[in-house]
Amino acid sequence: MRSLRTKLVLIMVLLILALMTVAGSFLINGVGNFYIGQFYAQMERTFSQEFIRQLQELSGDGPERMKELLMAQSDLGIDLTGRNVYILDSAGNVLDGSDQAEAVSMTANLLAALNGEVGQNSSITTSYMDLAVPVAGPGGSCIVYVLDSKATVNDLTSDLLGIILQALVMGLAISVVLSFLMSQILSTPLRALSKGTRRVAAGDFSEKLAVTSRDEIGALTENFNYMSQVLRDTLGEVENERNKLSTLFLHMTDGVAAFDASGRAIHFNPAAAQMLGRALREEDRFEDIFAEEAELALVLALKSPEYVEAEKAAGDRSLELFMAPFSSEGAPGGVIVVIHDVTEQRKSEQTRREFVANVSHELRTPLTNVKSYAETIVSAGDELPPELAQQFLGVIINEADRMTRIVQDLLTLSKFDYGKMEMNISRFAFRRAVEDVFEAVAIDAKNHRHILTLDAPEALPAVNGDRERIEQVLMNIVSNAIKYTPDGGKIAVSAGAAEGRVWAKVADNGIGIPEKDLPRLFERFYRVDKARSRESGGTGLGLSIAREILSQHKGEIRIESVSGQGTTVTVTLPAAE
Ligand code: ADP
Repeated sequence: MRSLRTKLVLIMVLLILALMTVAGSFLINGVGNFYIGQFYAQMERTFSQEFIRQLQELSGDGPERMKELLMAQSDLGIDLTGRNVYILDSAGNVLDGSDQAEAVSMTANLLAALNGEVGQNSSITTSYMDLAVPVAGPGGSCIVYVLDSKATVNDLTSDLLGIILQALVMGLAISVVLSFLMSQILSTPLRALSKGTRRVAAGDFSEKLAVTSRDEIGALTENFNYMSQVLRDTLGEVENERNKLSTLFLHMTDGVAAFDASGRAIHFNPAAAQMLGRALREEDRFEDIFAEEAELALVLALKSPEYVEAEKAAGDRSLELFMAPFSSEGAPGGVIVVIHDVTEQRKSEQTRREFVANVSHELRTPLTNVKSYAETIVSAGDELPPELAQQFLGVIINEADRMTRIVQDLLTLSKFDYGKMEMNISRFAFRRAVEDVFEAVAIDAKNHRHILTLDAPEALPAVNGDRERIEQVLMNIVSNAIKYTPDGGKIAVSAGAAEGRVWAKVADNGIGIPEKDLPRLFERFYRVDKARSRESGGTGLGLSIAREILSQHKGEIRIESVSGQGTTVTVTLPAAE
């Protein structure tokens, strides 16, 4: 690349050369023409009619007399270097001359004179200038011929050439210096501009370029400043948008993963990684993750707003996938996958299905019993002994009671589910509630020969809540202890207060609960031993209801148990201020 400076120097040098050549040739031509003009003007002054008549008169006396006359004419400048006069005969031979020349070369002017006309034309291209005047006198005709070798003009021309060359050298020197200066003036702001452009390209918008002149470069600098400001604003807006999007992307609860058209992962948010149960990396490919759910090419070929919906199991999670293509500059850019965690939804659907099945099952057993006993009574008629009929009717009443309990419990639970459970909140003494429950179950415990004990300090804080419901919870826990402890067991009821909360504990030495069943005890209808539960009149809903009631009171229930050794159930509640 040629620098601006070299270009400027070249232009200036060519300019000076051209200028000097044109000026020089005009000058040299002008000098030549001026000289020729001068020559013929001199000749015209000398060769007047009168002078030609004198020459004609002298022609009879021979060429010497003519030559003398001619030489006497100072206007002809014969004594000048390189200028001579000759007398020629009508054949063109030299008769006499101002120098010793024996002959002269035949020129156009001489030819004209030989034809009887005055030859007075000369061009600057020839190396001489001449004048041939025919003189026809009484003594015969001859030709007066003046020849100038142009020695003077040649000297002058070479002098001029020397001067022009000197001027050229000077001019060149000045032009080089000037072009250096000019290039400096031009290139300084241009260099600043180019530095500025590089800075802007590197994303640095901190500095504005100084506008030092009001010329085109100044205007360019101003435009550049304006352009970089617009660029910065636009970039700022884009950055803003991007930040907004990436914050949204980061905190979205749905997972989002983007893949380019070749299937390489380009973006993914933490939710996506969490749902898929794997740390996503750039090297991950669409096929590796969603091989079973969809084919990349198929999704890429979709037209907006079409999308592919699929379901994927990742570990113990159920994921719903929505895959749609996006385009980049008209071409398929890649695929966006939105991941929706539907684990809870699926679980609750499952629970609902199980619940409905459970309810139907729970109600069907007593209904079948009622029906078959009633049928037996009807079909046997009078043949059935009255004691047996009584017994059957007892079973029917029992089963009806059971169904009523189940329906009542279900109603209670559904009231909790829909937030319609009305609480009768009051401040009551927690110890009194525990004591009431203890007394209520004492007879039942005695019937099973259990040793039932109560250990609670007199001064226990009060509780704000629905006393009846809290007692219902405690009653359920103590009843369970009685039910699931073989006759003659030990059931210890205790209560206390700590850290702003009151607690009640029921410990038995009964059958206990296997460890695997512990987490499921609060599920509706869940029972470790169905037959035993039913036999003792349980519905499998007691603990579910207990937990609902406690959670309404910001309380907690905890069950610890060792299978075959016994169970301890602890209830805690916030104490009233
Ligand atoms: P149920 O009406 O069957 O008693 P619950 O919801 O009160 O229903 O209890 C759920 C299950 O928890 C019971 O069926 C029983 O298997 C187990 N369970 C509760 N309390 C005890 C206990 N004290 N000892 C052993 N198992 C118990």
